Amino acid sequence: MAILLVLAAALIRLALEPALRTHGPFLIFVLAVAGASWLGGWRPGLVATGLSAAIGIWFFAEPRYRLSMTSSEDWVYLAVFLAESVVFCAFAERLRKVQLQRETALERERAARDRAESAASSAVDELRMRRVAEQELRRSNEDLERFAFVVSHDMREPLHTIRTDAMEIAQHPGSAPKLAWKLVAAADRVEVLISDLLTYARVDRVSLKSDAPVRLENVVAWIRSNLATAIQENSAEITTAELPAVLIEFSALSQLLQNLVGNAIKYRSSAAPRIRIAAEQDGDYCTVSVSDNGIGIDPAQAEAVFTPFKRLHGADVPGTGIGLSICRRIVERLGGRIWVEPAPEGGSAFRFTIPIELVVEQLSASRV
Ligand code: ADP
Repeated sequence: MAILLVLAAALIRLALEPALRTHGPFLIFVLAVAGASWLGGWRPGLVATGLSAAIGIWFFAEPRYRLSMTSSEDWVYLAVFLAESVVFCAFAERLRKVQLQRETALERERAARDRAESAASSAVDELRMRRVAEQELRRSNEDLERFAFVVSHDMREPLHTIRTDAMEIAQHPGSAPKLAWKLVAAADRVEVLISDLLTYARVDRVSLKSDAPVRLENVVAWIRSNLATAIQENSAEITTAELPAVLIEFSALSQLLQNLVGNAIKYRSSAAPRIRIAAEQDGDYCTVSVSDNGIGIDPAQAEAVFTPFKRLHGADVPGTGIGLSICRRIVERLGGRIWVEPAPEGGSAFRFTIPIELVVEQLSASRV
C-alpha cells in the first residue's frame, strides 16, 4: 500500500513536471508518506519516506537520474521532507494506538454489556419458568383440594344412599325389590366418578403428541358413531367445515372433541341440537371451535366450568363435572388454550388452539 501511494505521488509529480521542472522534488511525496503512515502506522510511513526520497532524488532533482543532488536548496527540501515524514509517522502511530485502545475498550464494554444482557435474560427466563412452575403447583394444589372435596362429598352421597338402603333392606326384606335399583344407581355413580377421576389423573402421564398426522375429520366420524344413540335420540346434527390433520394422538383428540360434542347434546335447549365444528388458522395457532345452539353458559361462569367438578346445571343432567377440566388439561399440555364464549345462535362456542407446528397441511399424508 505504501509503495502504491508513493507510485501515485510520483505520477502526480510527473504530471506537474512542466510547471515545477526540478523545483520541489519531494513536494507531492509528503502526501504519500502522510497517507501511508495514517493507514498503516510508522513502518509503512518509513518505507514511503525512503522510497519517496530515492525517487525524488533520482527523477526530480538536479542532476537527474543520479542518486545525488547539486542544489543546496534541494538538500534543505530533503531535510524538511525527512523531518516532516518522521513527525507524521510518530503522530500517526500515536493516533493509531489511541484508536486501538478506544476500540479495545469499546469491545470490552460491548462484551460486558452482552454478558450483562444474557445474564439478565437468563434471570428473566428463570423467573418465568419459576412463575409457570408456581402456577402449575398452585393449580395442582387446587385440584388436590377439589379431589378431596369430591371424594368426601360427591362420593359420600351415593355411599350414604347405599348404606341406608342396605340397612333398610336388612331390617325390612320386603323393601328389597323397590330399593335394589336405587342401590344399583348409587353404585353406578360411584363407578362413573372413579373412572372420571382416573381419566383426569391419566391426562398428565400419557403422551399426547403423535409422530404421524391424524385427521380431525376422522376423529369426528369416530365420535359420530360413538355417540350414535344420543345423536339419534336428540335428532342432533353435526356439521364440519374443512378440518386439518394434526400431530396429536387420536385418543387425546377423541377425548377432547367427544367431551365438547357430548356436552353440546347433553346441555341442549328445546330446539334440536345443531353442532358445528370448524377450524381456522390464526397466526401461530390453529383455532378449533365447537359451537352449539344449546342452553348456553353464563359468561360469569366461563372460566369456572373448566375447573374440576364444577357443574352449572342440576342433578337431572348426568355428569361429574370433570369433562371440561380434562379438555383443558389436554389443550394446555399441547401448548394451546381453551375458552368458551356465547355462540351467535344463542348457545355456547368452545374454542381451543393448537400450536401451528402440530398442524399438518397435507391431509393426504394422514394416518387415520
Ligand atoms: P359434566 O358435563 O360432567 O357436568 P363438564 O366438565 O363437561 O362436566 O361440564 C361442566 C359444566 O359446564 C356442566 O355441568 C355444564 O353445566 C356446563 N357445560 C358444559 N358444556 C356445556 C354446553 N355445551 N352448554 C351449556 N353448558 C355446558
